[in-house]
Amino acid sequence: MRSISIFGATGSIGENTVDLIARAPGAYRVVALTGGRNVARLAQQAIALRAELAVTAHDDCLPALREALAGTGIETAAGPQAIAEAAERPADWTMSAIVGAAGLVPSLRTVERGGTLALANKESLVCAGPLLMETARANAATILPVDSEHSAVFQALAGEPVSAVELVTITASGGAFRDWPMERLASATVAEASTHPNFAMGQRITIDSATMFNKAMEVIEAREFFGLDPAQIDVVIQREQIIHALVAFQDGAVMAHLGQPDMRHAIGYALHWPERAPLPVARLDLRKLTSLSFSVPDETRYPALRLARDVMAAGGLAGAAFNAAKESALDHFIAGRIGFMDMAGLVEQVLDRISRDCGLGNAPDSLEKVLQMDDLARQTADEIVRARAGQG
Ligand code: NDP
Ligand code: MG
Repeated sequence: MRSISIFGATGSIGENTVDLIARAPGAYRVVALTGGRNVARLAQQAIALRAELAVTAHDDCLPALREALAGTGIETAAGPQAIAEAAERPADWTMSAIVGAAGLVPSLRTVERGGTLALANKESLVCAGPLLMETARANAATILPVDSEHSAVFQALAGEPVSAVELVTITASGGAFRDWPMERLASATVAEASTHPNFAMGQRITIDSATMFNKAMEVIEAREFFGLDPAQIDVVIQREQIIHALVAFQDGAVMAHLGQPDMRHAIGYALHWPERAPLPVARLDLRKLTSLSFSVPDETRYPALRLARDVMAAGGLAGAAFNAAKESALDHFIAGRIGFMDMAGLVEQVLDRISRDCGLGNAPDSLEKVLQMDDLARQTADEIVRARAGQG
């Protein structure tokens, strides 16, 4: 029986993973499930899947988790260290679906023990791509992409060498404000930015879709995972999100991956890889498809895409600084301290300041270096926002 663990089980990707596992009773032994504040749901999942261990990220949530699981025989634990230890427990297949840089440690621990890592947490690759990929190689671990675009590229590349690739195009929805006039964007609210036109996802990635920071992260993720040159990665808006990615080869052939937008496809593909298995996703009926439209994203509207290229050009720890600055900008936007269009400006200022003061170019070859840069970028973002509020 295959053993599995799910990090971020209570989130959007986590719930979709739990859904697939719950549909195959008896097929999997569930080693560990982790969550954050949604302890009631974590406990329900742990009971339903007969997990051996349930971990919450927060110490103050442990009493509630213990109470909810009392008498079940399911072990409980709390805190980032407990999450790291849960990732060290052997499991054949591990889903990394915590949101944010907090997902990096469980991703790393999984590949250190040579397990198969189903990677939804794109921050792992943006912050520490070379470290994660090299650690996986050194320990003969397998990483399978779960981000839908990267799963699509992975599938289009099956049996093909990356050296035969001319261009990879990942698609974007354009997010909540794709049809808004530019002048309205500055006053966009958190609630408005938290609605996605095609996908139901966690709040943070949904807002990141509206700014296209999500796509910017995915460009970096594609570079790190597939080892592509930045010039080989393009982004196109595909409103219906039926085409998830296209791979153009040297001979002019283009392989596209099509399907209804449902994350259970990419999760299920990673779960059953290298086989394919039936999945409970809606089928694509071309007769019902009225249009497939494409447009080039405008970088005045989506400055995050330009920043992604700067980050790839800078290399080193720029990805770690970029992600942390972006997470911090998002926190400040959600807290009402900065406007929607201020997020990209703040990230750019953080990158400029760190680059000027201490440089971004050190290789991300240790977790410690990555976490230090993460800290520095968050502090820098906070200082800039505080200074701005002081002036206002
Ligand atoms: P959600 O916000 O829905 O869920 C996040 C999960 O992480 C929850 O289980 C949450 O716990 C937990 N969590 C939050 N903060 C911490 C922390 N500091 N330490 C440990 N656990 C924490 O996110 P999504 O499922 O939308 O996204 C997860 C990851 O997958 C992200 O990296 C995202 O970019 C990526 N992704 C998501 C897609 C999607 O369709 N949603 C598509 C492609 C990639 P709790 O809720 O209990 O507090
Ligand atoms: Mg994606």
